[in-house]
Amino acid sequence: MSKCLYCQRDNPPGKAECRHCGMPLPALADSAGERRQRRFLWFCIGLAVFCAVMVVWLPRSIA
Ligand SMILES: [Zn+2]
Repeated sequence: MSKCLYCQRDNPPGKAECRHCGMPLPALADSAGERRQRRFLWFCIGLAVFCAVMVVWLPRSIA
């Protein structure tokens, strides 16, 4: 169950809008945040891979 922030009434899970007042439910915002979090995770993985490649590729001793 997801509670509507506007009319405080319960809605069935998986619905994007409140069936009572038609406003967007917080469940949708949660999934959007999760998607953003996943994109950030992939960014971190990509950065780690990039650093690993640079460590191998660049010369060890500069000084
Ligand atoms: Zn509502």
